[in-house]
Amino acid sequence: MKPCAVYTFGVDGLTGTVLTETERVLREKFNLRLEYGGDLRPPLMGARDGQLLADALLYHLVKVKPPQAVAALGLTPHDLYSNGLNFVFGLASPLHGAAVVSYARLVDPDGDLFRSRVRKEVTHEMGHVFGLEHCPTPGCVMNFSNSLYEVDLKGEDFCPSCRKKLEKRLKELGIV
Ligand SMILES: [Zn+2]
Ligand SMILES: [Zn+2]
Repeated sequence: MKPCAVYTFGVDGLTGTVLTETERVLREKFNLRLEYGGDLRPPLMGARDGQLLADALLYHLVKVKPPQAVAALGLTPHDLYSNGLNFVFGLASPLHGAAVVSYARLVDPDGDLFRSRVRKEVTHEMGHVFGLEHCPTPGCVMNFSNSLYEVDLKGEDFCPSCRKKLEKRLKELGIV
């Protein structure tokens, strides 16, 4: 299995759980091996009241991404925003093979629900990394989610069309 470099931008009591779910998603859905690269200092560029600029984290990931890694993924307990959006659950750059996911808004007293949300958002952003776009098929993990309600509404898996596109891309890259 090829490696996906995973970094944290800050750690808390949920980081272990998030890394476990991420490892599972990368292995089961993308045939990638999680290679933990360590905890990075959250970039202050663009930071505002309790929120980090998702683009700044992506930029940082691109800089530290090891050459042998197929992709770089950042995980953070901090809330994120991006240009024109009050908040984002995550952000990806297919061009640079990098993505970032925030679990700040995914937290729930129900551990199963929290872990499922984490799996969905990691799957979604990694889907973008491999060229998938937002998909209108009900339940597809590539549905655009602008609220927790929408995150909970969609499933954890790709619809057949997205799955086909992803497999084609993973084959092109020699990942499967
Ligand atoms: Zn998206
Ligand atoms: Zn789809």
